[in-house]
Amino acid sequence: MPVTVDKEICIGCGACTGVCPVGAMNLDEDGKAGCDSELCIDCGACVATCPVSAISQ
Ligand code: SF4
Ligand code: SF4
Repeated sequence: MPVTVDKEICIGCGACTGVCPVGAMNLDEDGKAGCDSELCIDCGACVATCPVSAISQ
């Protein structure tokens, strides 16, 4: 299961995009993070990195 981002909580800091080993996390046009479900390997790195706990696994 890919992770999900709560865009109400995400502050668009981009931290998750830097730690994702497969490039699945990117900032969308709204400036909030989005996960590419085709790429995500469910490693949890972004979940652990997000400063506002916007990502759920
Ligand atoms: S769980 Fe891992 S692979 Fe999936 S988006 Fe987060 S950092 Fe990337
Ligand atoms: S680390 Fe969290 S707050 Fe920062 S862009 Fe990713 S989901 Fe949003």
